[in-house]
Amino acid sequence: MFNESRFTVIVGAGPTGLTLARQLQRHGVPFRIIEKAPALFEGSRGKGLQPRTLEVLDDLGLIEDFLAAGGPYPPMLIHLPGGGTMERRMDEIKEPSASVPYPNMLMVPQWRTGELLARGVPVEFGVGLDTLIQDDDGVHLRLDNGEKITARYVVGADGARSTVRKALGVPFDGETQEDEQLFLADVKLTGLDRESWHVWPGPDGTSMRLALCPLAGTDDFQLTSPDMDSSVEQLLAAADPSVTVTHVGWTSRWRANVRLAQRFRVGNVFLAGDAAHVHPPTGGQGLNTGIQDAYNLGWKLATGDDAILDSYEAERLPVAAAVLGISTRLYQRLADRQQDAMRRDDPALQQLALSYSAADDRVEKGVLRAGDRAPDAPLAEGRIFDLLRGPHFTLLAVDWDGDLPDVGVPAHRVDEARDVYDGEGPRLYLIRPDNYIACVTSEPAEVATAAVRSGASGVR
Ligand SMILES: Cc1cc2nc3c(=O)[nH]c(=O)nc-3n(C[C@H](O)[C@H](O)[C@H](O)COP(=O)(O)OP(=O)(O)OC[C@H]3O[C@@H](n4cnc5c(N)ncnc54)[C@H](O)[C@@H]3O)c2cc1C
Repeated sequence: MFNESRFTVIVGAGPTGLTLARQLQRHGVPFRIIEKAPALFEGSRGKGLQPRTLEVLDDLGLIEDFLAAGGPYPPMLIHLPGGGTMERRMDEIKEPSASVPYPNMLMVPQWRTGELLARGVPVEFGVGLDTLIQDDDGVHLRLDNGEKITARYVVGADGARSTVRKALGVPFDGETQEDEQLFLADVKLTGLDRESWHVWPGPDGTSMRLALCPLAGTDDFQLTSPDMDSSVEQLLAAADPSVTVTHVGWTSRWRANVRLAQRFRVGNVFLAGDAAHVHPPTGGQGLNTGIQDAYNLGWKLATGDDAILDSYEAERLPVAAAVLGISTRLYQRLADRQQDAMRRDDPALQQLALSYSAADDRVEKGVLRAGDRAPDAPLAEGRIFDLLRGPHFTLLAVDWDGDLPDVGVPAHRVDEARDVYDGEGPRLYLIRPDNYIACVTSEPAEVATAAVRSGASGVR
């Protein structure tokens, strides 16, 4: 089995590695996923799933499980230093629209995201990568149990301290600020309602001293505080003596670390998720960006096509750089104690407008082009996302009277989607397995060319 042509080893079973494993499973690519820890990560840390990630989960057939496990973000209740409270929201609750079925962030503690993604994935726990080298015969891995494996591809989804990245010698450019720290804990307590995200500002009224966010679908609160010296009990006693801590679970000390790997691909080894980019938690981007790295890379590994695999770094590295910029700016606003520093209404955070088109020179805003996300739209029966769901390419035809070009992928006439797929006149849209548009045209021959170029024939 292991000399099969696309055999892939995924290093790390965090959200990135698990998403990739699910992708490879559905493409029928043989793989192993190794995880040096004895079990899945058990903390709540990355708890916000962005609208685009919810669409990825819909495509993976997991959205119902996630919606059932999570919940919306509650409003923030600021407990003012002089007494009294004030309510704030990170952003307004939006209604679903024809093209965006999941417009709001969903709160799901990271441990549960891991648990849901890991269902049915054969993770080998307690098995770590020691080192790897690559030559013409493949990528040779040495594991910490002494086993040696040779793979065609290796994906380092092994977090910020990535062994894979270090073995490749890829620089992780950026900085760590030891003086910017945050204490985090999952706690159970009595005496505090779960309707709000409780925030106690510092004596100046703007900085954050303590925050307690009720974690949807659990009895826990996620505690965050810049105070690195006090215990959970001391923090609570100082904020509200009527609250009693009954259990302290996972705890962590986060320090500001903002870094981007110089390369996401070296030969047949790829970096994804925190192994490739780490940023402040502000804006809830890290886990989401990792899941989308995996979503971009999975089908490309299935093609086994070198040029298509090159497009992974070309597409994802600029996205990661932009995400680093946004989350760092938001963190700086918090550190500078700016008014409304907790607002999260920048549409870029939802990751819906992200486009892989080389340059955004569209004349008319809203006109879809190659590289854009394929939007949802209601159909007479079902919706566009029903047609796209799964690992295949899809051809959509809007206002198309002639025969549909046969490029070996499922093809559908979807005139009802005209308003969302805002082409003027008849249009054909070839959609990639990660539901970005590979080609928009009114020329059937162009669809055939794009199908070859984007690997449609190589993807199962
Ligand atoms: C306080 C805080 C709040 C956050 N909030 C958010 C949020 O709201 N939204 C969001 O999107 N993100 C958030 N994040 C970021 C998010 O937690 C990370 O981006 C996410 O965990 C990255 O996933 P990953 O799978 O790439 O890496 P990880 O989750 O780090 O997983 C890597 C895995 O690889 C394993 N591993 C490491 N080395 C080896 C080896 N040599 N061999 C085998 N296995 C190995 C590790 O044990 C680990 O399980 C937050 C982070 C913090 C710290």
